[in-house]
Amino acid sequence: MDKYSNNEGKLSWEQLAALTPPRLPKSTEAIGARCARDGCDIQKDISYERPLCWAHWKDFDSLLIFECERCHWFDELVGEFSDADLCWECESRERQEAPPAPIYAHGPVERRVRYLYILKMLGGKWYVGQTNALDLRLKEHQDGNTISTRGQRPKLVWFEKWVGLYQELIEEEANLTRLARDNPRVIRRMVEEWQSPHRLVDWNA
Ligand SMILES: [Zn+2]
Ligand SMILES: [Zn+2]
Repeated sequence: MDKYSNNEGKLSWEQLAALTPPRLPKSTEAIGARCARDGCDIQKDISYERPLCWAHWKDFDSLLIFECERCHWFDELVGEFSDADLCWECESRERQEAPPAPIYAHGPVERRVRYLYILKMLGGKWYVGQTNALDLRLKEHQDGNTISTRGQRPKLVWFEKWVGLYQELIEEEANLTRLARDNPRVIRRMVEEWQSPHRLVDWNA
């Protein structure tokens, strides 16, 4: 149960707000000085360009915290009152029709893109992997820098850009790896189904 839900569903907004732990005040002076996760006081390695501490960058990358559209601090989102993705405080100001919080500007925080991919190797064997740099990883495979695919003439036959949680990516990788070993026909069908519309693309257009 997260802090925004309750069994009765009867607590008022004010009561819920009173349950949230006290936090460091948000301030524009904190830009580049401390982590942009609301309530985090970590200052190590924080800069305008890199506004989140490592642990909170991981949270952001795992879609556990989000950047508030209004004040640009990072928090779990509330946003049930307005259409915008707002933090607790901005949501509260919105409800009270109070003036918006000062904007906490910082460098862009980009979520790392990951790919799940399948290689076809000599003898029709499959290899399932995941990476954040498909081109570099493929080159590593083809240059023989990965033991399990070395000398197997690995070819990229399928990939998916992963937008879900990192934990889910790891689970899906394990799932496909199991299928590649126990039921390779399922993988073959999956690859064929994925490739068939892609064959329509005119790559020279
Ligand atoms: Zn932090
Ligand atoms: Zn906010």
